[in-house]
Amino acid sequence: MNSMNCDISAVLFDEHKIQARIKEIGCRISEEYKGKNPVFIGILKGGFVFLSDLIRSISIPIEIDFLAVSSYGAGTVSSGAVKIKKDIDIDITNRDIIIVEDIVDSGLTLQYIRDYLEKHDPASVKICVLLDKPEAHKIEVSYDFVGFNISNEFVVGYGLDFAERYRNLPYIGILKEEMYS
Ligand code: 5GP
Repeated sequence: MNSMNCDISAVLFDEHKIQARIKEIGCRISEEYKGKNPVFIGILKGGFVFLSDLIRSISIPIEIDFLAVSSYGAGTVSSGAVKIKKDIDIDITNRDIIIVEDIVDSGLTLQYIRDYLEKHDPASVKICVLLDKPEAHKIEVSYDFVGFNISNEFVVGYGLDFAERYRNLPYIGILKEEMYS
């Protein structure tokens, strides 16, 4: 028995559901970028599991890179102050880039990342997010590919953490409030 399971109040998406949705997104991206060689930029740390499954559902040549940002510290509410912890290595000037993010809450992190990467003059920028919480947006949010919409609850697993824990859960679940209140 996985002891982390006891900290979860409900499983939102199990492994099977996540993989099925990622295959659909992968097919769409492969179609849209036929004949191109896009750079997938995974946002660390939360987006690394999603990125690793997503790229294996892509049937065209691609490159990958990572940008590490932090905005939450050890809490569950976004500070809005985004810090770059690790920059990209690939020169993305004139490249087609696809930003791969774990979850959109207020939308502030994604806006910061998009603005930051657009300064490198890529040929195009598209955004792929695994989860979106539409009720939590504090600004207008736009992206191109999304896995699932969820309600305004704090979720963990499949790369998403609370205080660096739970990233290795194979599913996405709601963390019991007593774990952080
Ligand atoms: P935003 O700037 O949109 O408020 O927050 C985006 C970032 O906050 C995400 O990349 C993610 O790291 C973190 N985040 C937002 N909501 C959740 C959540 O429900 N669970 C976890 N583990 N992280 C979240």
